[in-house]
This record gives sequence, C-alpha cells and structure tokens, in this order.
Amino acid sequence: MEIRVGDVLTCRKKHPCGSDRFEVLRTGMDLRIKCLGCGHEILTPRARLEPRIRKIDRPQ
Ligand SMILES: [Zn+2]
Repeated sequence: MEIRVGDVLTCRKKHPCGSDRFEVLRTGMDLRIKCLGCGHEILTPRARLEPRIRKIDRPQ
C-alpha cells in the first residue's frame, strides 16, 4: 500500500473526537498522522495502521 505525505486517510476506527479522517505528515516504518477533527498528532507503526485504512484521498 502506498502512502504519501499529504494524503488524507479515511480509517475504519474513529478518533475519540469523532473524526475518521487523518492527514499524513510523515511516512516510513512509522507514520505520523494528524486527526482532521481535533488536530491531534499520532505516531503509529505502518503495519498497525494499514489494515485500518478504508480510503486514501490524494491531492492532485
Ligand atoms: Zn481527533
């Protein structure tokens, strides 16, 4: 699965704030993502995040 900086991920699991959309800030073994609902940043291993992704929106 290809994930790039700037992508917006729609996840199966919602953030506690209620939003399920996250912007990718940094990629690698670990991904830094920012919740678009509350702005909270999360660092998560790629292997754990990938199965939770439902959709990737890529800015043109
Ligand atoms: Zn949030």
